[in-house]
Amino acid sequence: MSTTPDRTALVTGAARGIGLAAARRFLADGWRVALLDIDGPAVEAAAAALDRPEATLALTADVSDPEAVAAAIGRVAERFGRLDALVNNAGIAVFKPLLETRFAEWSRVLAVNLSGPFLCTQAAAPVMAAGGGGAVVNITSISGLRASTLRVAYGTSKAGLAHLTKQQAVELGELGIRVNAVAPGPVDTAMAKAVHSPEIRKDYRDAIPLGRYGLEEELAETIVFLCSERASYVTGQVLAVDGGFDAAGIGLP
Ligand code: NAD
Repeated sequence: MSTTPDRTALVTGAARGIGLAAARRFLADGWRVALLDIDGPAVEAAAAALDRPEATLALTADVSDPEAVAAAIGRVAERFGRLDALVNNAGIAVFKPLLETRFAEWSRVLAVNLSGPFLCTQAAAPVMAAGGGGAVVNITSISGLRASTLRVAYGTSKAGLAHLTKQQAVELGELGIRVNAVAPGPVDTAMAKAVHSPEIRKDYRDAIPLGRYGLEEELAETIVFLCSERASYVTGQVLAVDGGFDAAGIGLP
């Protein structure tokens, strides 16, 4: 794995929330960072507002679009000359009962949350390997660890991503690429504000031993650790950063 001072990370879904917090943390640790998002104006503004804007690159792409992903990885290689870490963070949530989930919603959630990390990793791996290896972190969810109502599309996409993480770790190890997943518990981002009703918030607080939502910075810390050489022998793992939710095993409705 790279210990170069020019270490470069690509974070998808980086215009806000957990992805933007991860980009901030990479920069604070001396990395260069490409921020990719489907929302072009938002990612341009987010990158420009970061410390060390000269060490950032804003990219507009939909992670479920193979051509857009290939072009974005090409721009990272062109601008920075290497890629040491990829954080597959872009994701969307549809919380609906199974019988009310439309096929178009199911398909879009699977395309962004599961096909996106497949495509981004497939495009990034050769660039990483050319530089001696690297690390991928897939952002899954506690909703992919345990089933509960309303999460048929979202939870299934994240469970699939947990398995994809292991598949990727097994195949990319020989290229010097480690692949792990972080499974966040609830974090009060724009996504959570959109899909967490007051009842869902209460259910989470009752089921989380630490009794609170996680902070974006707490997720960023774990993500950047897994990308760093401090985690050099860790691969194929799904690490829940969830205030103890998974350990407690208290089911959600
Ligand atoms: P968010 O909605 O605040 O940010 C997600 C970002 O991804 C947005 O900037 C959005 O524009 C971008 N995005 C969406 N679709 C995209 C696409 N097709 N291509 C490129 N970019 C796209 O969400 P967040 O809460 O910061 O979530 C980040 C990740 O963490 C997601 O994968 C989410 O599923 C996961 N997660 C979040 C929580 C939570 O409670 N917030 C819990 C568990 C897991």
